[in-house]
This record gives sequence, C-alpha cells and structure tokens, in this order.
Amino acid sequence: MPEFALIDLICTHCAIKRDDVRVGIGDDAAVLSVPSGHELVVSTDTLIAGVHFPLDTKVEDIGWKALAVNLSDLAAMGATPAWATLALTLPSADSEWITRFAKGFAELAAVHNVALVGGDTTQGPLSITLTIHGFAPIGQAILRSTAKPGDLIYVTGTLGDAAAGLVLLKSPRSGAISNFSLKLVDRLNRPLPRILVGQTLRGLASAAIDISDGLLADLGHICTQSALGAEINVDQLPCSEALTALFNVKDRCRFQLSGGDDYELCFTVEEEKSELMEKLLSAQSIDVTCIGKMSKGKEGITVQNTKGEIIQCSQVGWEHFKDNTEESR
Ligand code: ADP
Ligand code: MG
Repeated sequence: MPEFALIDLICTHCAIKRDDVRVGIGDDAAVLSVPSGHELVVSTDTLIAGVHFPLDTKVEDIGWKALAVNLSDLAAMGATPAWATLALTLPSADSEWITRFAKGFAELAAVHNVALVGGDTTQGPLSITLTIHGFAPIGQAILRSTAKPGDLIYVTGTLGDAAAGLVLLKSPRSGAISNFSLKLVDRLNRPLPRILVGQTLRGLASAAIDISDGLLADLGHICTQSALGAEINVDQLPCSEALTALFNVKDRCRFQLSGGDDYELCFTVEEEKSELMEKLLSAQSIDVTCIGKMSKGKEGITVQNTKGEIIQCSQVGWEHFKDNTEESR
C-alpha cells in the first residue's frame, strides 16, 4: 500500500473536526488558531516497540496509549488538549495494522476532542512519536518548579497498578484469569489521562507532574525543580483492591513507589487551598489522596511509614539509558 493510501486510512478513522483547524492534514503544514488569552502548551512522546509496550500488545491499545501518554503531560500542565501530529515509522505498509492503530487512537481522541492535524509516515522499526498541542489561559499552566515548603502532596487514583499489570503479563499467575488481573493489565494498556483533574487544579495546585516513571522519580522532579525536599508516608499511598488481592506488601510497595505507567497526577497544594481542591474534585467523583508534605532543603524524598520508621528505597524508577530491572517496566 503506498504512503498516501496509508495516510488516507489514518484520516478516515481519525476524523474529528474542530473549528480552530484552518488547515489540517494534506498541506505542508497545519494552520491552527490558539484562542485569545491563551498560551500554546506542547508535548512530544515516543513509543518504541519492546521498550514502551510489550511486542505482543494489541494494536488498538498501542494507538490508545500513544495518545494517552501525551494527553497525560497536558493534564499535568492543566492544559486543554486540541490537536495532535503523528510521526509513524512502520516496518511495512500494513493496512490492517494502521486501521487497528487508528481505531484505538480515535477512540481516545473522541473522548477529548483531539483533531489529528498532520504527521509523517516512514519505513523502519516500529516507532510512534506523537506531539500533542493544547492551550491554557495565559500564565496559568501548572509547572513542576513552583511548589512551596509546607505544601501538601497529593496523588490521584491508585498507584502501582500498571507495573503490576506488566509483571502479570510477563509471568501470568496459574489458574483462571481473574477480574483483578484484567484490571491491572488494563491500567497498563489503556491509561486514562487526568485531563479534567489538571484543568480543575489550575489556580489551586502549586506544582504538578504526571506519574509516568514512578512516584519517587516523578515527585523527585518536582523536588529538584522547586529546590525542595519531600516527606511521604508509604502507608498512605493509595492502593487498588486488585493490587492488594494479587501481590504481597513488599511488591505492592515497590510498584507504588517505583512502578511507572500509571499516568496518575502527583501535585502539591498550599494547605489553605486543600479543602476547596478536595471538594471540587470529589464533586467530579475523582479520588485524591494526601501522601505527604514538601519540605525545605534539597535532600530529596524521605519515605516513612506511619510508625515514623524511615524506608530505604534503592530503586527509584524507570530511566532510559540505565540498567533498569525487568520489574520496573
Ligand atoms: P511533506 O512531504 O510535505 O512533509 P507528507 O507527504 O509527508 O508531506 O504528508 C502529506 C500530509 O499528510 C501532510 O499534511 C502531513 O502532515 C500528513 N501526514 C503524513 N503522515 C501522517 C500521519 N502518520 N498522520 C497524520 N498525518 C500525516
Ligand atoms: Mg512539504
């Protein structure tokens, strides 16, 4: 199948139209209007087969995930998503693969009204690079660098599920596949970017990040960029019923602290604003949990339990170009 037929196939499935797209796919570049009073917020992520998703991942799930991980970055900034561009490198012009990929992509694009406005299609080892464009009112995007000492640290949802899902995929438990294991694997393959949370947190959160590489690694970025430390209580980390049912305390703890791919948000809030924030989010049926506090000094993250004992965490999260252990993916 020629390149242009592949592009047509993608267009057919990703057919969301937006008024702010003056020129979309088909010209040398897209022409887009940013609403007045807003700034453009842009993020790019690449997914490599075998690194960011197991080789046997369902193609629809790859399409979903390519968009989800990018949307999650916009969620962390408190931005509203609008447009995406897609650079696709494929081993062959496989129309069935493209169709299935585009279906998964389009399913999530429809949820967040994201228009695909351009891209590039090349031949080579499977790799997917997506750039997402969104906007936020001028000056209101939420940064990593603006947390203050004493701010409370919160996370959305539950932690560690995606890392547990990956372990289950690699070494399935004997016996019937349970609802719990399906739930954990689904967290890995179909992450739900926290766009609404991010938008609600504008003007409330002092800093935010999405948890893609593990809580310690990602909260560590807020610490470094805000030049602060953090104290968290491991016993307060939110844990799903499925994770509790299938893994022992030690594994759970490791997944919650260091497992990547959950795409929950970790954010900081001034104590005086926390009640309002909790009220607004609970009105949207969104669970958030306070897990600790930002502290003065640059000593990084201190992890304690409820008894006040310090927990040593040797494995901090996923980092490329390092010798990552199998389980952390
Ligand atoms: P050029 O050669 O000018 O860079 P291309 O021939 O690569 O343009 O692409 C033609 C049109 O198709 C462009 O508008 C481009 O943005 C779009 N396009 C190419 N590949 C993709 C893709 N994978 N997804 C979405 N749009 C694409
Ligand atoms: Mg051109």
